[in-house]
Amino acid sequence: MENKKELRNWLDAYGLDHPLVIAGPCSAETEEQVLKIAHQLKDSDATVFRAGIWKPRTRPGNFEGVGALGLKWLQRAKEETGMQITTEVANANHVELALKHDVDILWIGARTTVSPFIVQEIAEALKGTDKPVLIKNPVNPDLSLWLGAVERFYTQDIKNLGVIHRGFSTYEKTRYRNNPEWQIAVDLQNRFPDLPLILDPSHIAGRRDIIFDLCQTALDLNYDGMMVETHYDPDNAWSDAAQQITPDALKQMTVDLKIRKEEGTAVEYKNKLNTLRTKIDVVDHQLIESLGKRMKISDQIGELKADNNVAILQTKRWNEILGKMILEGEQNNLSEEFILRVFKAIHQESINHQQKVADLQRS
Ligand code: PEP
Ligand code: MN
Repeated sequence: MENKKELRNWLDAYGLDHPLVIAGPCSAETEEQVLKIAHQLKDSDATVFRAGIWKPRTRPGNFEGVGALGLKWLQRAKEETGMQITTEVANANHVELALKHDVDILWIGARTTVSPFIVQEIAEALKGTDKPVLIKNPVNPDLSLWLGAVERFYTQDIKNLGVIHRGFSTYEKTRYRNNPEWQIAVDLQNRFPDLPLILDPSHIAGRRDIIFDLCQTALDLNYDGMMVETHYDPDNAWSDAAQQITPDALKQMTVDLKIRKEEGTAVEYKNKLNTLRTKIDVVDHQLIESLGKRMKISDQIGELKADNNVAILQTKRWNEILGKMILEGEQNNLSEEFILRVFKAIHQESINHQQKVADLQRS
């Protein structure tokens, strides 16, 4: 697949002067709930109303969605509010039912994107349709798997496409429910600048208090839109209660977010600079995280050395590291002098850490 302007025709057709907003509950619960939320969103920036009908749950026993019945509620929400509707489809049968009920946009869930067989089945069921299909990133941080899914739709002649960045799962608990790994989305954006990129801050965050910041970062990185889980009573939602916000909070958020429009050379310059700076922030954040991880391993080595009465400073090992890093640095266009300075500082911090561990063990 190559980058093509046509990928974004469906998005441009809305003629919006702000990023696309998709909002609505994690799950359709009852007809009243669906209609109430849709009406509360009617005068917001949201163009598309979302609700999950078939819910993929990590563990059995949680609410698994109301099923096909909910499609009628979505259709009614569309008739009454004029918003477009979207839901997740996870097999060919879902596709058939969704098309029958005039669902405007289909999305592919993170647990589906990981499975080429199912993606292929859905793509074939949709062959040649002009319905936009939005493909969430796979649960694991694998850009080719994500792109592979997009290509499976593209080769079935589905040209109205987009991707949704919903974060990646990690075994270790972090402040996010799903780690954003911004770099993966930025790499995808660099390769396919015209493929609409939409943020799902709700599933990245897993909690409401950081949704705003995630959306602002996405806008600074020139994302094309966001999909935000919205419920009139978030705490009592039947699924994903901690991460949903109210329609009023969504309206406030779209007022407060800084949306950058590209106009005039000065503004364009500023926008480009801002985007590049946000990209730098993403990489800096990774640097700090990697350094932190390195020091934790260093602490473990420190403990091991202290337990075995071994000296902290091991010159031979250190010279080996330096030699390797100078070579790798060269391949990455980094001067020897720079590598030496950086690694000396890292080494010193490492020794300080191990010294602290040894002192603790002695005391
Ligand atoms: C959802 O959007 O409600 C959902 C289940 O998302 P994901 O596939 O990203 O987990
Ligand atoms: Mn959800």
